[in-house]
Amino acid sequence: MNIKTAIANLDEVITKIEGARLRLSHHHIVKLIGVSKYSSAQDVEKLYEAGQRAYGENKVQDLRDKKLALDEHPLEWHFIGSLQKNKINNLIDAKPTLFHSLDSIELANELNKKLEVKNTTMKCLLQVNAAKEDTKSGVNPLEAVSIYKTIIDTCPNIKLLGIMSIGAHSEDRKVIKRSFKDTKTIFDELAPLGAKYCSMGMSSDFELAIECGSNMIRVGSALFKD
Ligand SMILES: *Cc1c(COP(=O)(O)O)cnc(C)c1O
Repeated sequence: MNIKTAIANLDEVITKIEGARLRLSHHHIVKLIGVSKYSSAQDVEKLYEAGQRAYGENKVQDLRDKKLALDEHPLEWHFIGSLQKNKINNLIDAKPTLFHSLDSIELANELNKKLEVKNTTMKCLLQVNAAKEDTKSGVNPLEAVSIYKTIIDTCPNIKLLGIMSIGAHSEDRKVIKRSFKDTKTIFDELAPLGAKYCSMGMSSDFELAIECGSNMIRVGSALFKD
């Protein structure tokens, strides 16, 4: 990807974000995470030069490698993939800006234990399987609020800052919208408990997600296309 393409892609995404957020509210701010999982560190550098600062990876090793390769730049690195138990220590050592995909109480307990040992904390989002699809990770939406509270009460080294969800896998926009609305309802319930981020929306559906109240979107292919 060259710098011209990076600027054009970023401009196009930002223009769409701007349109969608204004349709919701003039006071609604959206944070863009550039998902670089299928792209090289050089491509990330091009988007950085175009102005994009926050990136997301779904493999711990890739997050570590790209973070190291681009160490001289002031970047944020978000972890958005499912975390295997044997990679927990590696993720802690990689110091992600935010871990979006904490997807079970068991994982929360394991992560909290290892954070305690290392005497550190991690900012996390609870992943909710809003569309209730077998292929997706995340907690059952009906249990999300109670699991969120349990993690706050029992995992002091986990700093829960909100929820993450992947929109329903469907051609029907109404079905996708329903999954976003359901996620937003859960997010609103958690706001009094300190939830700040509602991470939902990807390349194919981020405008709809924003219109439903998302304030953090994870966009890969629309930013990194040639
Ligand atoms: C890959 C990925 C994205 C970005 O997907 P695009 O369709 O390329 O925008 C967002 N969120 C998660 C969890 C992902 O794994």
